[in-house]
Amino acid sequence: MPTSPLPDELTPGRPLLFRNALVLSMDPAIGVLDGGDVLVRGQHIERVGRDLPAPGDATVIDATGGILMPGMVDTHRHMWQTALRGFGADWTLSQYFVFYYLNWGKIFRPEDIYAGNLASAMEAIDAGVTTTVDWSHGLQNTEYGDAAVEALRAVPGRFVLAYGNLLGAPWEWANSPEFRAFVDRHFSSRDDMLGLQLAFDVTGDAEFPERGAFEAARELDLPVTTHAGVWGATNDDGIRLMWEHGYMTPEVTYVHACSLGQDSYQRIAASGGTVSISTESEQSAGQGYPPSWQLRRYGIPTSLSMDTSVWWSGDLFSAMRATLSADRSREHLEAQTARETVVHNKLRAEQVVEWATMGGARALGLADVIGSLTPGKKADVVLLKNDRSPAMFPIVHPYGHVVFQAGRGDVHTVLVDGRVVKYRNELVGVDLARAKEAVGATVEYARGQLGEETWRECMAPEIPETELIPNPYTYSEFRGEGVAVRRAEG
Ligand SMILES: [Zn+2]
Repeated sequence: MPTSPLPDELTPGRPLLFRNALVLSMDPAIGVLDGGDVLVRGQHIERVGRDLPAPGDATVIDATGGILMPGMVDTHRHMWQTALRGFGADWTLSQYFVFYYLNWGKIFRPEDIYAGNLASAMEAIDAGVTTTVDWSHGLQNTEYGDAAVEALRAVPGRFVLAYGNLLGAPWEWANSPEFRAFVDRHFSSRDDMLGLQLAFDVTGDAEFPERGAFEAARELDLPVTTHAGVWGATNDDGIRLMWEHGYMTPEVTYVHACSLGQDSYQRIAASGGTVSISTESEQSAGQGYPPSWQLRRYGIPTSLSMDTSVWWSGDLFSAMRATLSADRSREHLEAQTARETVVHNKLRAEQVVEWATMGGARALGLADVIGSLTPGKKADVVLLKNDRSPAMFPIVHPYGHVVFQAGRGDVHTVLVDGRVVKYRNELVGVDLARAKEAVGATVEYARGQLGEETWRECMAPEIPETELIPNPYTYSEFRGEGVAVRRAEG
């Protein structure tokens, strides 16, 4: 039983009118509307404009002082890992690989996949991320896949299951009768609430064993998502092999795409593929420098993602903020290395909001369905409004406010497919207690499997020693409390 019932005024079937918002439509034909209204009827956005007449049976949501924007789209999130939220906060990428790929990935059971997915799915819609690609590489067999689907179907968000198995060979599992039966079982009729992709990496092996997996994707008409350009893991060879064998198509998502050369970026650009940037991830795990500054130069369509809550935040405010900052950081670094000064930022707040909305929709082939507040599109809508927050006024730069000022605590109302899933800052129709219980059981189980000592060691990897630079200055005389007189030693 959902713990939070739908408030009476939001009875399904009634039209919904958002009144007097700062509307960031992300539709170039509509632009930004100050004092704008958005009318939702059924699953769709019916009208966007000013002073729209309210249908007689409409519920009116006063959006005064708020920002209304399209639901955000995350194109790469290992949702199953949310069960160990925050566990890897101090990891590097190699520690992540050792933990999941070599040692402990195999201990996760279908119910653990379910638990992580359930919590992650709730976290996504709570933060206004209405569409999430579940990059699900913990699926040891299709029983795990069933659990992943069950969790995604239990939460009223829009999802894409990117089916993967980090312990298996993709050319094998993608062609197994079990997997084909799984696809028939859950995806015989495709809908835009739960999509399917194949998730696997291309190692760069000259034999290109991944061919069989790409062939399976082609046969099943499924997009492919792949970790590409990951320092120490995947590189230009993988891209070259995909190119030479004819598998670089517009349906491919290249995740990270940091550690690549010009040739690979040009191949991605030429083939119409898209890149999913996970800036927080790349900055601290070490896949390479977050590549937005490169992608802009090559004209590669971009979307944003959070990667995994085992380290990072599960909201796209963080992704937008980190991406904009990393891009500018790079520009300054490059310029200053050449003794120059950046006087104009190339990347703007508006662009990262676009990547977080339309960019994701494009990557998923849903540009005509979601990603902007456009009449006729599905109603995935987010209202940022927080009358108790001193950070929600004044709103003078709409995009800058979303990127640098707002946060998930300001997500007031969320609609997915026209359905209210969050209202007045609270999830509705979602059984949070169930997710908490399921995740609690997974933590207890994993902790038991690892043992207390390993559990603690994995969470607190050793810190390499930092050699202090010799300092010719010393503090030798002190006056009062903490006030030092500095004297150079001769
Ligand atoms: Zn990833």
